[in-house]
Amino acid sequence: MKVLVTGGMGYIGSHTCIALHEAGITPVIYDNLSNSSIRVLDQLEKITQQRFDFVEGDINDSAKLAKTMVEHSIEAVFHFAALKAVGESAEQPLRYYQNNVSATTTMLLTMAEVGIKAIIFSSSATVYGDPKYLPIDETHPISSTNPYGWTKVMVEQILEDNCKANQDNLAIALRYFNPVGAHPSGLLGESPNGIPNNLMPFIAQTAVGRREFINIFGNDYDTADGTGVRDYIHIMDLATGHVAAFLAHQKDAGFLAYNLGTGEGYSVLEVINAFEKSSNKQVPYKFAPRRAGDIACNYADASLAKQKLNWTATLDLQAMTDDSWNWQSKYPNGLE
Ligand code: NAD
Ligand code: UDP
Repeated sequence: MKVLVTGGMGYIGSHTCIALHEAGITPVIYDNLSNSSIRVLDQLEKITQQRFDFVEGDINDSAKLAKTMVEHSIEAVFHFAALKAVGESAEQPLRYYQNNVSATTTMLLTMAEVGIKAIIFSSSATVYGDPKYLPIDETHPISSTNPYGWTKVMVEQILEDNCKANQDNLAIALRYFNPVGAHPSGLLGESPNGIPNNLMPFIAQTAVGRREFINIFGNDYDTADGTGVRDYIHIMDLATGHVAAFLAHQKDAGFLAYNLGTGEGYSVLEVINAFEKSSNKQVPYKFAPRRAGDIACNYADASLAKQKLNWTATLDLQAMTDDSWNWQSKYPNGLE
């Protein structure tokens, strides 16, 4: 079986291609390379001994999308392609709504045109806005605090409405908590452009000497050590979560949403400590004021995925920092 992986050259999409391949599902990658390197294809080949089909294209280009879907007899779409920087989304909201919402609608119309009925969508725990309670389950109210988050809320709504109107369609929204780590081979991982916004790549770049120190945003939160707590999930667990969701619901229809997290929270200081152990390097840090819009604590109720998908995260924080360091030390500047 062949599936289209939009954004498949990016961080999460590329690792999911490995998990799909290992499950006997053939990924066809569709990506405009706006936030990824063509060298990902070589790395995927080194890991899987398979050269995946790759089409350089934009999801706004419905003619190219339709041609790709038909030529490869695509049966479902794994939809990762999106812009993802929260801060940037506040500065350029229209660009985000265009790329993440309008282009996704274009793609859904194209899928309907060529008769593809199933989509697995990269959503985010950001759709829960400010947590009203913890752990967060899938029935938690939906909201957002920034345009990026609203794009995820809107696409979920579009998918739900579309499934209501077309009762043989399937849409699974996977709400990721904090994806981190890298493929255990060290050949593939996350390499953000510019200064990283997220904690783990910032720590990794500090450990490898690209940055002097890390600012810890806030040490006066109501948490055990005062620093922010998040539910970090290993990228390979996240990848297998996609396969589990697809296989469990392949014959179903309707709109479904699942949290993909571990259910456990770790503080910024705990992550830094684990990284120092993995790298055998000191990660210098300074306490800085809280980051605007940050919450103290966030972690998933991961029981629905366990119950319905028979999937649960298996890799712990030490595996996340070990693999992150393995990748960062092999490729200090990413693939460029
Ligand atoms: P990424 O930027 O590494 O990957 C996204 C890929 O999509 C890139 O390769 C980019 O070139 C491509 N792309 C973007 N717009 C496109 C378009 N119009 N047409 C074709 N290709 C396009 O990001 P990622 O971290 O792998 O995230 C993948 C998905 O998961 C995104 O939808 C993101 O919003 C979502 N998500 C990510 C996180 C996270 O922490 N990384 C958390 C929750 C949800
Ligand atoms: N964080 C930090 N310094 C950084 C980046 C992040 O202290 O340079 C903290 C942040 O305040 C939060 C946690 O690390 O408590 C995770 O942040 P990230 O941006 O990775 O994820 P998100 O906040 O989106 O869950």
